[in-house]
Amino acid sequence: MKYHDVIVVGGGLAGLRAAIEVNRHNVKAAIISKVHPLRSHSVAAQGGINAPLENHFRGIYDNWEKHAFDTVKGSDYLADQDAVIRMTKDAADRIYELEHWGCPFSRTAEGRIAQRPFGGAGFPRACYAADKTGHALLHTLYQQIIQFKQASEREELVLYDEWLVTDLVIEEDVCVGVIAMDIISGEIEALRANAVIFATGGSGRIYGNTTNALINTGMGIAVPYWAGVPLKDMEFIQFHPTTLLGKNILMTEGCRGEGGFLLNNKGERFLGKYDDSRKDMEIAPRDIIARNIVKEITAGYGYDDSYVLLDLRHLGKDKIFQRLPGIRDICMEFIGIDPSESPIPIKPGQHYTMGGIDCNAECETKIKGLYAAGECACISVHGANRLGGNSLLDTIVFGTIAGRNAAKYVQNIRGEKGEKRLNDNLKLTKQNIDKICKSTGGEKPVTIKNELNKIMDTKVGIFRDASALREAACEIKALQERYHQIKLDYSGTRVNLGLIWVLELKGNLDVAEACVMGAMAREESRGAHFRTDFPKRDDSNWLKHTLCYFTKDGTRLDYSPVNIKQFVPRERKY
Ligand SMILES: Cc1cc2nc3c(=O)[nH]c(=O)nc-3n(C[C@H](O)[C@H](O)[C@H](O)COP(=O)(O)OP(=O)(O)OC[C@H]3O[C@@H](n4cnc5c(N)ncnc54)[C@H](O)[C@@H]3O)c2cc1C
Repeated sequence: MKYHDVIVVGGGLAGLRAAIEVNRHNVKAAIISKVHPLRSHSVAAQGGINAPLENHFRGIYDNWEKHAFDTVKGSDYLADQDAVIRMTKDAADRIYELEHWGCPFSRTAEGRIAQRPFGGAGFPRACYAADKTGHALLHTLYQQIIQFKQASEREELVLYDEWLVTDLVIEEDVCVGVIAMDIISGEIEALRANAVIFATGGSGRIYGNTTNALINTGMGIAVPYWAGVPLKDMEFIQFHPTTLLGKNILMTEGCRGEGGFLLNNKGERFLGKYDDSRKDMEIAPRDIIARNIVKEITAGYGYDDSYVLLDLRHLGKDKIFQRLPGIRDICMEFIGIDPSESPIPIKPGQHYTMGGIDCNAECETKIKGLYAAGECACISVHGANRLGGNSLLDTIVFGTIAGRNAAKYVQNIRGEKGEKRLNDNLKLTKQNIDKICKSTGGEKPVTIKNELNKIMDTKVGIFRDASALREAACEIKALQERYHQIKLDYSGTRVNLGLIWVLELKGNLDVAEACVMGAMAREESRGAHFRTDFPKRDDSNWLKHTLCYFTKDGTRLDYSPVNIKQFVPRERKY
């Protein structure tokens, strides 16, 4: 049986940063990723990464405390403040570390790291590399990984590219390893480890209208959920205000940070008429702008009752070429318009999963030796609504913390645990996969997936209410039943992407169920969770985290307190 001191599941920013930190502590690590690490969704991040560097000082000072306050306020006071303080205090160090590793950040005229305004701050706090920030960051970290691999003589860092983790194995509340499938050969193996770090990204593909990559299925958090680890705050789903009409491709918040306007069908900048976004207009937090776009369209001021315009023309060709070249390329490639000449048709779409694997500010879960970081984790720094630019920061800061803590934990462990449990689990996984391959039912996986996406898009969207959520819950239950009748077109072992799709679909369904159950129970509106039947925030009953436990009969809910330090909950007014 293969053994690694620490296994990192996920090769995105959080996973790579965690693996670097494990290695810095002279502990052996392996990274398992279902795609090549450079194809992780992190590579698609566009607009920026927040840190209070004050590189655009114009009479406004910035520091970790201001950044922390904006984050907590943006989260509608659901964020855990100990974690937010940790993240904002570490932000500048992590950015300078990336700079020293060669990250090609855009620069100010004086040669400092350039920053642009993103939601929540109202002034420049997001560091960026044009509109390809995730690409620059991910390649910087991957170079560190490659450099380390080349420098080390022993097998201190092993990369399992294109391996899918199907199970997390826990023995007496201690994590002992994972079961994973080599997608190319179809071999299924048990891998023993004294610590496992989950860094498996977001779950956006439970929706159809989403900016997320096809790989962001939800299975990454379903695996620990199935093993008994609770998911936290799954009802909080971020809808990004600006996705390209008909394509769902993100038009970064950087477009508005650079000065872009949102226009209705009368050519007016309409956000100012809504009380909650009057001051910050286009750079108010995302939940507020997304709701106001939908309200504007519903009131008859959209185009074709379905979209509004993002206007960049006044920024001029030079600025668009320099600061938003990727946005221009996407618009020209996908809808044939040049944003320096025509406004961009946009509408809101699913973008980010605020909820995830329940863990604390040390990235520790309730299971010993199991850690989580990045979008799959709910630490929780984003609470009910994430600020633009804070997710990339979250991956880097908490990837580092998870790696450090996992390395320290394994250094104190003696003896070998879990081999029998891993072997038993391996046998069960093989039996389950064999059953799927031999199933003669009549259900097509793609039909179930499309139906799930439609339910989530129409009934668990920006505006929610009890009756639509109840319907969504019943319909998802029915899909879970139909899943047992699924039939594969091909049951061979090598590169069976149909089989991978079916395994992931189970994750889609169960994660969607957790999201709906959390949303149905939470009878208030907070951040991105807006209930038309309970339009007010209700701190006396709902200033608490939702915990979702997996059971054979569906999601069981529980609750846990929010960590509050110096930022006392107040009404969120802008
Ligand atoms: C289009 C877009 C633009 C964005 N722009 C910004 C931005 O400008 N600023 C910002 O702060 N945030 C942005 N975000 C959000 C941010 O990019 C993500 O939250 C962040 O990059 C997630 O990183 P991660 O390391 O947690 O996960 P990912 O980068 O998604 O990586 C997940 C990894 O897990 C692996 N994996 C998953 N499940 C399994 C499994 N079962 N077995 C094996 N491997 C598995 C995958 O192979 C992958 O390597 C953007 C998001 C999108 C979609």
